[in-house]
Amino acid sequence: MSSDRSCYVGRFAPSPTGPLHAGSLVAALASWLDARAHGGRWLVRIEDVDGPRCVAGADHLILQQLAACGLLPDGEPVWQSQRCAPYEQALEQLQAAGLAYGCACTRADIARAQEAAGQVQQRHGELVYPGTCRAGLNGRPARAWRLSTENSGRIEWTDRRLGAQTQDLEREVGDFVLKRADGLWAYQLAVVVDDALQGVTDVVRGEDLADNTPRQLWLQRQLGLAAPRYLHTPLVLGANGEKLSKQNGALALDLSDPLAALRQAGNTLGLQAESTSLPDWLAKAVQAWRGMMPAC
Ligand code: GLU
Repeated sequence: MSSDRSCYVGRFAPSPTGPLHAGSLVAALASWLDARAHGGRWLVRIEDVDGPRCVAGADHLILQQLAACGLLPDGEPVWQSQRCAPYEQALEQLQAAGLAYGCACTRADIARAQEAAGQVQQRHGELVYPGTCRAGLNGRPARAWRLSTENSGRIEWTDRRLGAQTQDLEREVGDFVLKRADGLWAYQLAVVVDDALQGVTDVVRGEDLADNTPRQLWLQRQLGLAAPRYLHTPLVLGANGEKLSKQNGALALDLSDPLAALRQAGNTLGLQAESTSLPDWLAKAVQAWRGMMPAC
């Protein structure tokens, strides 16, 4: 697997679990602005590998909302659910290299193993995998496939907004899932494979996803792929102080006034752009972004 990084390619990769709201528009706008400010291409990828979480029609609604805001992709959008062959190929590559292994553990098995080791470690509600099946399945059937993080050490990277970042992947996250027990591809594998196949040079997305970056950098390294640059954007918070989501009251973007929605997203990004026309506001926002985020 290889990737072409000769010029700027950015993307917006929404999961179609509902329509765009004020929070997701911030990531969409920032990724579009960064691509335009670099004279690059901007792609849209619908991340619908987790079928049970997807809402029927949300994909097309998101595309309509983006279009109403003047955020038009350079090329046809792609749907992850229609491109599983490259995920299978990547898993086979990792299996052949002895880096991916079958795992028979249920959540209860992982919790028991942690208790036995005298530590209950969680990260965002996920139990840190103690590596039980790394050495083999002991005759149990494999349920999921995991990537070994053995000797990953400290993963370090520089986020274009957040600055220097570091994570001890093996200790803080553990061997993570590539293919789930229900047969679905995990976000980590799909996102890394698609970013590489689409030649994405710059990932611009919400700050809630920053914590996934070390897993993605590790996966890229194991697959021999170039790492994109990363920029994580500020989050819009809901009334409960958590990231805005449907659960805490996010409303679908009001398509009757896309400029108002863009202005609000621009405020979250700290952009100074004033205009009463949507195309002119976008052009001014690109200029303002250039001033705030020097080209890299
Ligand atoms: N599909 C993910 C989401 O909607 C975003 C993935 C990414 O930008 O890497 O949260």
